[in-house]
Amino acid sequence: MKITFIGLGIMGSRMAANLIKGGNELLVWNRSQGKAEALKQSGAKLASSVVAAVKDADILITMLSSPEVIEEIALGKEGIIMNAKKNSLWINTSTVNPSFVEEMAAKAKEAGLRYLDAPVSGSKGVAEKGELIFLVGGDNKDLEDARPLLSIMGKSINHLGKVGDGTKMKMVINLVLAQSMIAFSEAVNLGVTSGLDESSIVNILSESPVVSPFLKLKKSKLESKNFSPEFSLKWAHKDLHLILQTAYESNISLPLTAIAKEVYGMAKQDGKGDEDISAIYEYLVSKKF
Ligand code: NAP
Repeated sequence: MKITFIGLGIMGSRMAANLIKGGNELLVWNRSQGKAEALKQSGAKLASSVVAAVKDADILITMLSSPEVIEEIALGKEGIIMNAKKNSLWINTSTVNPSFVEEMAAKAKEAGLRYLDAPVSGSKGVAEKGELIFLVGGDNKDLEDARPLLSIMGKSINHLGKVGDGTKMKMVINLVLAQSMIAFSEAVNLGVTSGLDESSIVNILSESPVVSPFLKLKKSKLESKNFSPEFSLKWAHKDLHLILQTAYESNISLPLTAIAKEVYGMAKQDGKGDEDISAIYEYLVSKKF
């Protein structure tokens, strides 16, 4: 079986490395070739173009940043959809929005491809350990074909329903994730500005039941003030945008999410987009209103 992996950023590079460690031959493509070169040393073969990457693949996995980027790589004469083999299975693991998934899956189907949405919960370290949580939408048969590969990259595979349903669950999770990071940051900011010691606040909060395991993982970033990206702040902003688009399409209002989106937007505008999501703390602390 021929497997192709496209998109070797923070997440994709680690997921692809695990597939190779798990004994799979992998053909890879990434816009910046240097990241593909790094995987070559682990045994990956490099494709010279998207067309070369997908034309013989039985299964192709994408881990690209956003709907816009997936459109760029998937559509058009040189794109995935026009060049992939008939009946091949496209597994999209990126975080996009459900209506975009439905649109891409329909285009893929028209061209004779099969499609699964399989976004992931879990960040850089979890991806490296092969312990991601997959949120899958699509046909049972397609999931069974994907399962051996997903099992190498993840510890849990959740089949939510039809195409798009995995991504609906991802929207739900990331709403909590992005808002809780801001709530945590505001809480620490309140404590510090009212005179408490920062490390005591962070330590006590982290021990307390109100703080999630995700936020506990961010404790060292707040302490060290090293905000190198595990999950970039600009992707949290993108996800809140996609969540609000989904809410609009579902005819509901998410007022707190809308505020959270604009807070990340201001931090991005202030130059923090490429830093970790936890840099929102530094941004909030630096602003005196
Ligand atoms: P990342 O490190 O920024 O990687 C993004 C990937 O997209 C890279 O391969 C990048 O290529 C590619 N890309 C961006 N713009 C492109 C373009 N115009 N043409 C072609 N390729 C392009 O991001 P990541 O953290 O791995 O996240 C990837 C996806 O997973 C996102 O949807 C994110 O929301 C989601 N996600 C991330 C995490 C996390 O903790 N990091 C967790 C769950 C889900 P280059 O290398 O050339 O830039």
